[in-house]
Amino acid sequence: MAMLLTEDRIQRLLAAAREARERAYAPYSHFPVGAALETACGRIFRGCNIENAAYGASMCAERVALFKAVSEGFSDFTALALVTAGPKIPSPCGECRQVLSEFAPQMPVIMANTAGEYQIGTVAQLLPAAFSGENLKGLGDQT
Ligand code: ZN
Repeated sequence: MAMLLTEDRIQRLLAAAREARERAYAPYSHFPVGAALETACGRIFRGCNIENAAYGASMCAERVALFKAVSEGFSDFTALALVTAGPKIPSPCGECRQVLSEFAPQMPVIMANTAGEYQIGTVAQLLPAAFSGENLKGLGDQT
């Protein structure tokens, strides 16, 4: 059950995402991204985008944060903040939406620019009709 997203909580997550953004490794896109993923127990996992000269090996900030958390034993998530620079409000890519949906379809995502403007939407709003484990059920019966 998600706690109420108070302005304090939003600002705490945005501060953590801005911190993470400072550590981004983005020598190719020059587009640093920071993420902060909150667990049900109140812990925050930070993530930044980490690029690679072989572009396809790069990883988004959101997935870095989520993979860090899951690998440390945390998989109950209550909010995600995402911060980029520029006038536009950022938006998670399709792959990140899918990965977030696996663990927390109802989680609110706070999408912010470095000027502090933000929008909030749930993962399910960002990825309606997501592919899930439900889609794999019964496959064994058909072969
Ligand atoms: Zn992504």
